[in-house]
Amino acid sequence: MGFLAESLNRIQPSATIAVSMKARQLKAAGRDIISLGAGEPDFDTPENVKNAIKAALDKGATKYTDVDGIPELKAAIVAKFARDNDLAYKPSQISVGTGGKQVLYNALLATLNPGDEVIIPAPCWVSYADIVLLGGATPVFVATTMEDGFRLQPEALEKAITPKTKWFMFNSPSNPTGAAYGLEDIKKLTDVLVRHPHVWVMTDDMYEHLIFDGLKFYTPAQVEPRLYERTLTVNGLSKAYCMTGLRIGYAGGPEPLINAMRKLQSQSTSNPTSVIQWGAVEALNGPQDFIAEHNTEFAKRRDLVVSMLNQAKGIACPKPQGAFYVYPSCAGAIGKTTAKGTKIGNDEDFVTALLEEEGVACVHGAAFEGSPAFRISYATSTEALEEACKRIQRFCGNLT
Ligand code: GLU
Repeated sequence: MGFLAESLNRIQPSATIAVSMKARQLKAAGRDIISLGAGEPDFDTPENVKNAIKAALDKGATKYTDVDGIPELKAAIVAKFARDNDLAYKPSQISVGTGGKQVLYNALLATLNPGDEVIIPAPCWVSYADIVLLGGATPVFVATTMEDGFRLQPEALEKAITPKTKWFMFNSPSNPTGAAYGLEDIKKLTDVLVRHPHVWVMTDDMYEHLIFDGLKFYTPAQVEPRLYERTLTVNGLSKAYCMTGLRIGYAGGPEPLINAMRKLQSQSTSNPTSVIQWGAVEALNGPQDFIAEHNTEFAKRRDLVVSMLNQAKGIACPKPQGAFYVYPSCAGAIGKTTAKGTKIGNDEDFVTALLEEEGVACVHGAAFEGSPAFRISYATSTEALEEACKRIQRFCGNLT
C-alpha cells in the first residue's frame, strides 16, 4: 500500500508476539492450546510490587513524570548496578523506558546512520535486527553453533568487525537459546572489543537473574572496565520480577547517549507509566529471595523439557544454563510428512503443523536467524510442559 512508509517494508511483525497472539485467538475460539510461545513467566507479580503500585495510585502519582524516569527509580537502578554488577553509574547516566524493547529502540535509533553495521550473534532475539533496519543500518549476523553451546567465539567476533561497525549486541543469558556466558567466555570477547575502540557495546541483560547450575552472571562493562565509556548496559523488570505487561526497562551508560535517548523518548511516549515506576522502585529495593525460588522451579522444568524433547524422534535439545528457553534442533524432521499429510520443508512448517495438529505453540528458528530449530519457553506449569512434550513426541513419532 503506497500510503505506508517505505521503512516498514524493511521489517517484519515480531514473530514472538505473532505466535502468542495466534495461540490466544485459538484458545478463545475453544481450541485446546498449550502456549510455549511467549517469553513470559507464569508466576504472579510479587505482592509487594502490586501493593506499591496500588499505593502510588492512592497517593495520586498519576501525573507526568520526568521523561526517562522518576529520581527514586533512577536511584534504585544506580543501587542495583552497584550491588549486582559492580558498576558505578550516576543518576544522570540512567534511562528508564516502557520495557527493555523501548530502551534498545531508543539507543539504536538515536545512534544509527545508513551504512552503519551492527553485529548480532545468532540465533538472536527477533527484534534486534528489525530495529537496526528501521534505523536504516545493516544487521551483521554472526552464527553460533550448538557445539559451542550457542556462545559466540572471539575469532568470529574479530572477523565480523569492520570500520563500519557501530555496535556489538550482546545478550546473556540468551533469548532464544538460553546460552549463558561465564566470566572467561565474556573476557575473551571483551579482549577483542578493547582492540577496536570504534565499536560500542549494547548488552541486553534482561535474563541476568535467570541463571542456573551455580553459574555466575557477568556483564561486559564489569568484566572489562576499559569498555565502560562505550557500553550501554540494558536491563529490565519483565522477566525476573514477573512484570512483563507492566513494561519497565532501563539502561546505564555514557551521559551523552542517555541524553540522546531522552530526547527521542520525549518525542514519542514521554515517561513510562507513573505508578508502574513506583512498582519498579519496590521491586529493585525490596526482597529478592523469590528469584532463587523461581530459579529452582525453572531449572526443574528445563531438565524435564530437555529430557522429554530428546526422546522425540528427530529432535536434539541442548541443555542451556539460563533464561527460560530451550532451542532444540528439528533437523531430523525436515523433509518428512506429518500424520495429517503436511510436508515439513522448514522450521516454520514444523511449528505451524505442530500448532495445527497437536495444539502446541512455539516459535520457529528462522525468526531468530537460527534454522532448523524452534524455541520453547518453559515458563509455564510442569503439567502443561509434560503434556506439550508428549504431544511433540507423538507429532515427531508420526512423521514419515
Ligand atoms: N521477549 C519476549 C519473547 O521473546 C516477549 C515478546 C517480545 O517482546 O518479543 O517472547
